[in-house]
Amino acid sequence: MKIIVPIKQVPESSKVKMDPETGTVIRTGVETVVNPLDLYALEAALRLKEQYGGTVTALSMGPPQAKRVLKEAEAMGCDNAVLVSDRKFGGADTWATSYTLAAAVTKIGGFDLIITGERATDGDTAQVGPGIAAHLDLPLATYVSKIREVKDGRIYPERLTEEGYEQLSLPLPCLLTVVKEAGVPRLPTLSGKIRSRELEIPLYSTENMDLKEEFLGLKGSPTKVVKIESPKVTRGGKLVNASEGGEVGLKKAVDALMALLQERSII
Ligand SMILES: Cc1cc2nc3c(=O)[nH]c(=O)nc-3n(C[C@H](O)[C@H](O)[C@H](O)COP(=O)(O)OP(=O)(O)OC[C@H]3O[C@@H](n4cnc5c(N)ncnc54)[C@H](O)[C@@H]3O)c2cc1C
Repeated sequence: MKIIVPIKQVPESSKVKMDPETGTVIRTGVETVVNPLDLYALEAALRLKEQYGGTVTALSMGPPQAKRVLKEAEAMGCDNAVLVSDRKFGGADTWATSYTLAAAVTKIGGFDLIITGERATDGDTAQVGPGIAAHLDLPLATYVSKIREVKDGRIYPERLTEEGYEQLSLPLPCLLTVVKEAGVPRLPTLSGKIRSRELEIPLYSTENMDLKEEFLGLKGSPTKVVKIESPKVTRGGKLVNASEGGEVGLKKAVDALMALLQERSII
């Protein structure tokens, strides 16, 4: 199986700062990590490779320093990686991001399966995985929590729903987005880190990809961030302090909370 795993480099902390002019994330000088759910996508791919053979390629669109998350994916066991980077890709919304990643996947070619994380911790839209599938006209399954088997050109995933699980079967090639239940990610190994140091990471850009410039980056993004503001809490709150006065204080706090809930006809 030839598996491609798009992974995103995200700011480490939740203290993401936005550029008020462009409405995009300020990424320079910020510690970055592999988007947590993408570690589960990598793990799902590596387990399929162990079971059915083949290769796993990690793919990331971002500034040049996104190479660091690709090296981490190689140290986990990916066979190779590709960096998709160009100033013209900057500020892309999910449509432009998935368009560019779809073009990169086409350039890699010959794939059987694409596995993405369900969502990224910064944009948090969960749109890029389905977006890539739409651009490539691929069958799609989201919220995948388990891959039961691959047989006769089809894959049999299980997906989480609000009611429980759904068992699906999709023809290959297709795209899956995975959730945490898909399995605990392995840690990069020392031998993996040594091997990743030797591996070259090719760069895909507007120089060597078949792309329509009008679909790229901030300019090519149908979604424009018009204004960014932090939501103001308007509803008057009431502080119930349960930490003072031991048992008595706790009881007082519980009584105050019950009274408030009744007052608001919540209970
Ligand atoms: C606070 C905030 C709000 C935003 N709101 C919107 C919005 O409403 N609409 C909009 O179009 N854009 C929005 N964006 C921009 C959006 O974040 C970017 O387009 C981003 O590149 C992709 O979207 P995402 O972060 O939501 O990823 P998601 O769609 O949540 O990511 C899902 C999966 O796609 C893959 N993936 C995502 N990005 C990459 C990448 N660069 N390289 C490789 N794989 C990747 C990963 O596997 C990831 O797990 C927002 C950004 C921020 C920071």
